[in-house]
Amino acid sequence: MLNLVLFGPPGAGKGTQSVKLIEKFDLVHLSTGDIFRANIKGGTELGILAKSYIDKGQLVPDEVTIGMLASEVNSNPNAKGFIFDGFPRTQAQALALDNLLKEKASAITMMLALEVEEEELRKRLLLRGKESGRVDDQNPEVIQNRINVYNAETMPVKDYYMAQNKYKGINGIGQIEVIFNQLCQAIEGAAN
Ligand code: AMP
Repeated sequence: MLNLVLFGPPGAGKGTQSVKLIEKFDLVHLSTGDIFRANIKGGTELGILAKSYIDKGQLVPDEVTIGMLASEVNSNPNAKGFIFDGFPRTQAQALALDNLLKEKASAITMMLALEVEEEELRKRLLLRGKESGRVDDQNPEVIQNRINVYNAETMPVKDYYMAQNKYKGINGIGQIEVIFNQLCQAIEGAAN
């Protein structure tokens, strides 16, 4: 299986690149943010709970997020592999993901990290807020809170994969196609 963690701060381009990568490598895309938003739209219990965190730019609690992700993985038994987009965001989530994949005699192949500086992220998120109507992209305070949460809680996840020799950083500024090619090269290098 080819299992990729697509990592990076909010606004780094994970969603955009995931769409291209799943097509090229025939993978299942699991974006925890997208799944939460679908639940919010559907008015589910999970959606109502998630919204109370997402609107403030906070992380949804680990046990909720891990449970949801596990059931998504389990409902795709024939997947050739997964792109985990926006997950794991904490060390506890990274551990849980390793254990889940181990149960399936599989593992994370590599973490691909899109590196983008903060000023550029703020610009991109505000623009996306205008275009997509995403509430958490429209308020500068919520945006800053998400960046702060990323730096404090999510950045350490990089060390988790570095310790396993699975981390690969990619410059996330530039043309979408150029970044995509760099991601593909990194994946093909790891798969060979
Ligand atoms: P995203 O679409 O990845 O930017 O996620 C939007 C929001 O969903 C985040 O700001 C969090 O509130 C929540 N969220 C998404 N993924 C996770 C995760 N792995 N752990 C906790 N909260 C998450």
